[in-house]
Amino acid sequence: MYWDANLETLHPAAMQELQLSRLRQTVERAAHSPFYGRRLKEAGVAAANLRSLEDIRRIPFTAKDDLRAHGEEMLTLPLDDMVRLHASSGTTGQATVIYYTRADIETWADLVARSLYMTGMRASDVFQNMMGYGLFTGGLGFHYGAERLGALTIPIGAGNSQRQLQLMQLFATTAIHIIPSYALYLLQTFAAHGLDPRDLPLRLAFLGAEPHSEDMRRRIEAAYGVKAYNSYGLSEMNGPGVAFECQEQNGMHVWEDAFWLEVLDPETLTPVPPGEPGELVFTNLTRQGMPLLRYRTRDLASFDDSPCPCGRGFRRLSRIVGRTDDMVIIKGVNIFPLQIDKVLMAMPEVGTQYLVELTRQDYRDQMLVKVEVQQNFFQEDLRYLKQLQKRITEALKSELLVTPRVELVEPNTLPRTEGKAQRVVDKRT
Ligand code: ADP
Ligand code: ZN
Repeated sequence: MYWDANLETLHPAAMQELQLSRLRQTVERAAHSPFYGRRLKEAGVAAANLRSLEDIRRIPFTAKDDLRAHGEEMLTLPLDDMVRLHASSGTTGQATVIYYTRADIETWADLVARSLYMTGMRASDVFQNMMGYGLFTGGLGFHYGAERLGALTIPIGAGNSQRQLQLMQLFATTAIHIIPSYALYLLQTFAAHGLDPRDLPLRLAFLGAEPHSEDMRRRIEAAYGVKAYNSYGLSEMNGPGVAFECQEQNGMHVWEDAFWLEVLDPETLTPVPPGEPGELVFTNLTRQGMPLLRYRTRDLASFDDSPCPCGRGFRRLSRIVGRTDDMVIIKGVNIFPLQIDKVLMAMPEVGTQYLVELTRQDYRDQMLVKVEVQQNFFQEDLRYLKQLQKRITEALKSELLVTPRVELVEPNTLPRTEGKAQRVVDKRT
């Protein structure tokens, strides 16, 4: 049941002791880098005078822009000791680069293996990795983790839908790693070939890299005949394997022996209580080559510190509500794309894709939501479609508190990507 039973069920007091000693080691190590050497000195913080985990608040934050401007100055060891680099997808601007030593690659692989093992994946599984390889961490991160676990790993990467199907059939794939929007999209390829994914031996799916709602998970589970697990990570904290769902499917355990988590009000930067959304701020506790201290992710989620039936003591994260920079303000109301996902994916008539377009007319914000309708519903008469359009508008209005214009479109007509979905197009600026 546990990959590392001793660690995963460690007594809270012993865990805190471990975290504090790792925090001190990390701060000590970070101080060897030009960037943190300066930062820590300015703040008057040294490893030796960190008396408790709360003392971490004396350390200044690290922002994405610090990484963009001073990335290489954060290395604690010469470049010769680095064996790999990765970059973020660049979803919100210039990509950030992270360097890994050989030891860092090892600990990362182990965290991913631990995550996969927790969901019930075993060496006997055949794992098809449908995430992009290359600079993006989703591909290689899972690849090393699955191999560490001992599963037969198929490194196909993203896209190439027809080939994905062939490989699943040929090698009797049991577990997949896939971007949720692509999982829905791929169903059309199955249908086009007269295939039902439920007839395949698939049993596990790992969904990550982009926000998705509970209804989207349930849709994927039903269509593929799998149990689907939410997987969270970011390149700045290695990549995948930061937080992962256990078999309870009720929040993602944060691997707190490797990442110290703070959940802060993004305005006041003070801690929020359990259950309240805040910005996730992480500090590496085990990274050697490029440890980051108090990295502000801009991802918003809440945490739950109640005991989990699985017996792991690690706090759990809710779904990522969105990024602070994903939030759009329409007519003065704050909206996260996930809210729209939640409403649309709960309606069986809605197909697999949707697109939100924001425009400004006569100084007023306009929101247009284009929604693909399932084929069988699209064949209904016009009156039915008008009715459906009205129902979707009402449902969105009650969730968002603004009234969007809703346009129903035929299946397979909206643009799609093989990577992270682009759901919102803001044409206002
Ligand atoms: P970028 O920040 O450029 O997209 P990454 O490839 O490092 O670069 O992606 C990490 C980001 O992806 C996270 O900060 C988060 O916003 C998003 N993400 C990753 N996993 C999930 C998930 N399970 N749910 C929602 N968002 C996720
Ligand atoms: Zn659990």
